[in-house]
Amino acid sequence: MTSPAPPDPSTLRPRLPSPLQEIEDEPFARRGVRLLLKRDDLIHPALPGNKWRKLAPNLRAAAATGERVLLTFGGAYSNHLRATAAAGRLLGFATIGVVRGDELAGAPLNPSLARCAADGMRLHFTDRGTYRRKTDPDVLADLHDRFGAFRVIPEGGSNSLAAQGCSNLGRELRGAADTVAVACGTGGTLAGLAAGLGPGQRALGFAVLKGGRPHFLQGTVEELQRAAFGGRRGYWRLEDRFHCGGYARRSPELDAFADAFEDRHDLPLERIYVAKLLYGLTTLAGEGAFAAGSTVAAVITGGP
Ligand SMILES: *Cc1c(COP(=O)(O)O)cnc(C)c1O
Repeated sequence: MTSPAPPDPSTLRPRLPSPLQEIEDEPFARRGVRLLLKRDDLIHPALPGNKWRKLAPNLRAAAATGERVLLTFGGAYSNHLRATAAAGRLLGFATIGVVRGDELAGAPLNPSLARCAADGMRLHFTDRGTYRRKTDPDVLADLHDRFGAFRVIPEGGSNSLAAQGCSNLGRELRGAADTVAVACGTGGTLAGLAAGLGPGQRALGFAVLKGGRPHFLQGTVEELQRAAFGGRRGYWRLEDRFHCGGYARRSPELDAFADAFEDRHDLPLERIYVAKLLYGLTTLAGEGAFAAGSTVAAVITGGP
């Protein structure tokens, strides 16, 4: 007997296309620039934002090949681990989360990992050296010895299927804006977004990780576009001035900006990605980077 196929993710009734809202924001209005928010955070309560767009095609592929166990990777506060765990619970996949940092193994779970565990994810803590080598054959072989058969979804969920899923984000924005800006962690969302936009539209990715010069994401996004679409697609550029020291780091300026933006618009901001995106975008607007009369769309990839 084979177990029944997990349901298609579309049975979870995602809100697609996601809403597009215009907001009046002084730093943009002063320059004659329209600001739109692409509310991907509203796609699904348990699988928000780009995590829906990246996971859905991977879950469909797993269902199609009869794979029922998903293994993926992330840090202790990874939104991707949480989304994968939730998808597993909602659609009937077993999930395994390989977590960076073996010092966490004995400690109480933080709220994010506790949510993963409550959704049925098996958590496996690994030291940082092994984590860096997580896609090496010997490391994967050890994981197979421990957990049996599984389908690997990469860190951040960013693979070619994910980039293809995120091209719908670009397609939904065709004709709506001159520049579309998104925060980047692993780059899958930017790779797909740029590929889906129409001619004349530009994608701008704001790196939230410190990544050297040129930023490591430059090569990652090119590689993802090659794997997903056969080559470079669309116009895109990376902005690496607004990571504020690195992943999950913050600065007094960033915090002050985010607090003020939340007050102005009564919109709580996700602080690891979305706040840095809006901070960077607002700074660029102040520098005159966007022409008067043009429209900028900021992708709200998740909520707090
Ligand atoms: C995961 C995530 C991102 C980063 O997406 P990548 O495809 O990894 O670049 C951006 N914003 C939020 C809210 C996220 O959770």
